[in-house]
Amino acid sequence: MKEFEHIEWVHQQVKPARQVDVGIGDDAAIIHTASGDRLAIAVDTILEGVHFDAKTPPKLIGRKSLAVNLSDIAAMAGQPMHAVVGIAFNRQAGPQFAREVQQGILDLADEFNVALIGGDTNVWDQPLAISVTVIACEPPSGFVLRSGAQAGDAILVTGSLGGSLQGKHLDFTPRVSEALILAESYPVHSLIDISDGLASDLGHILRQSDVGAEVQAASLPIAACLLESHTDKPKWEHALSDGEDFELLLTLPESAAEGLLNNPPFSTPLTRVGTILEDSAATLILPDGSRRKLNADGWEHSFD
Ligand code: ADP
Ligand code: MG
Repeated sequence: MKEFEHIEWVHQQVKPARQVDVGIGDDAAIIHTASGDRLAIAVDTILEGVHFDAKTPPKLIGRKSLAVNLSDIAAMAGQPMHAVVGIAFNRQAGPQFAREVQQGILDLADEFNVALIGGDTNVWDQPLAISVTVIACEPPSGFVLRSGAQAGDAILVTGSLGGSLQGKHLDFTPRVSEALILAESYPVHSLIDISDGLASDLGHILRQSDVGAEVQAASLPIAACLLESHTDKPKWEHALSDGEDFELLLTLPESAAEGLLNNPPFSTPLTRVGTILEDSAATLILPDGSRRKLNADGWEHSFD
């Protein structure tokens, strides 16, 4: 089963609903209350054997289950407020293991001023699964969607890319405060977090904004742990396609991007990696200057 095809099918079945401003298709849904306040809601599930393994320390497992959701809230420029947590523990896991998982969630929640307000605990014979839902309020500058990119925008990323296989996916810092600062002080047109790889997640922005882009392979910021390790492929291919970076990808007008890059408002690195174009094609410029088609998995080795 292909995940995106299934989501597309669900999307087609869903009827328009009351008080929904953004439904399926962004990093979080946005609803408004009767008084007009808007909330963003994100849910993500992590599974043993997929997002962590049996050897992962339980605190890091708990931490990650909340962190991936905070990353989706950051991708809306939301202020996370509350979380509910559903856990299915394996029957063999002892009480100490369970508490450490939960402590990992509580510690990160404290760090981000998020209140754990409920959840659900189950025990079964299968591996550990944790699903977290986070509710966020709207900052004065408003939520930022995937669909607002405009031709001429610069494409920027926070931090560095390609470090997930070296373990960064377990202890990354969700870019919540960076997103809030960016959205408050700069005309950010579109925003997403990089969970499936830059190539794939930029693709969501391009499709939903009905624009194209040009990305420079040589500009991609490479994670230090990736630089230090041996890889068969060029490092920039990992930076382009590996998942679970949990960095922000944003677009904003070129002039604003220049001001931002010359005078960054925080210490997290920001790097320009490309430009949004009117024509809906997505192109990758290789380090040798040749041009290739950019697709969701990375790049096409020949241009057809
Ligand atoms: P992300 O990688 O940012 O978490 P996903 O690719 O998981 O985003 O999801 C894309 C969109 O599809 C989101 O709006 C999400 O809420 C929605 N979605 C995913 N799975 C389902 C489902 N089974 N039913 C309804 N909506 C779904
Ligand atoms: Mg996301």
